Amino acid sequence: MDKYEKVKKIGEGSFGKAILVKSKEDGHQYVIKEINISGMSSKERQESRKEVAVLANMSHPNIVQYKESFEEGGCLYIVMDYCEGGDLFKRINSQKGLLFSEAQILDWFVQICLALKHIHDRKILHRDIKSQNIFLKKDGTVQLGDFGIARVLNRYVQGV
Ligand code: ADP
Ligand code: MG
Repeated sequence: MDKYEKVKKIGEGSFGKAILVKSKEDGHQYVIKEINISGMSSKERQESRKEVAVLANMSHPNIVQYKESFEEGGCLYIVMDYCEGGDLFKRINSQKGLLFSEAQILDWFVQICLALKHIHDRKILHRDIKSQNIFLKKDGTVQLGDFGIARVLNRYVQGV
């Protein structure tokens, strides 16, 4: 964690925390998911490490970009790009009932379909697709994130 400076906490879930940080190396902002694995059984620990493995193997414009991961002081840290627009759930609520244009919805929908095609081609099931797990970049791109409960159907056909 000494490579990163904490900016603020941006999310809290059953897993732990999502923290906005600034890298001391490149000056960019990233999000770090901090998962306390010390109290977990070894099976649960393996599950958490799997989230890292799934994300680390993916690179697609509509999937949150993984940077690195490390374990320190009983916690697993997953570093990923920061999506400045936050999640789609918050974006929808901030509209206060005002409808999005059909073009806007279609644009987001197509981007999520592209992300899903990418992961399904790799036999990965996300299993938690919802607006809280869809993130907005400042250029209008949307990205699928939170592979916390994803499943790999058959590792041997990965990459086909
Ligand atoms: P979980 O759902 O397991 O708590 P998430 O990865 O969905 O974990 O993160 C929780 C929340 O933190 C998200 O809904 C979002 O508000 C925020 N968040 C997580 N990752 C990012 C990111 N890369 N960019 C911006 N916000 C994020
Ligand atoms: Mg989530």
